[in-house]
Amino acid sequence: MGYYVVATRDLKANEEIFTEYPSAIGCSHRRRQRIYCIGCNLKDEFFPKHGRLVQCPGCSWQACHEECPGLTDPLRHANECEVMKQLPLSDGDLRQVCQIFPIRCMLIQRDNPQLFAMMKEMGERALKERDPK
Ligand SMILES: [Zn+2]
Ligand SMILES: [Zn+2]
Repeated sequence: MGYYVVATRDLKANEEIFTEYPSAIGCSHRRRQRIYCIGCNLKDEFFPKHGRLVQCPGCSWQACHEECPGLTDPLRHANECEVMKQLPLSDGDLRQVCQIFPIRCMLIQRDNPQLFAMMKEMGERALKERDPK
């Protein structure tokens, strides 16, 4: 949710300055025409079985392949699969993939209130930086 980082020294090309894992991943409205794996967020053009729709065995949302490690990883899709079962994916309506990010944020709010409070604070700060009225 931050927009930029300011360096305090000169950086070399391709120098790794930090590694950070996202709290939640989802697709934006602008990319809604793409299909992403519900387990690992891989774009459909990189799916191993390109051209054939593969679904998560639990919730039926699209997946890159049946054995995608993200489908059973509790830090990725495993915890949200029960919720996604209640939101069946309509045929051909790719706008539904935009539901993934808010659902993931709500699950963080339920399961990790401390992380959610930090995400909320960062989001509010980013909004103030973007529109400092
Ligand atoms: Zn996958
Ligand atoms: Zn699932």
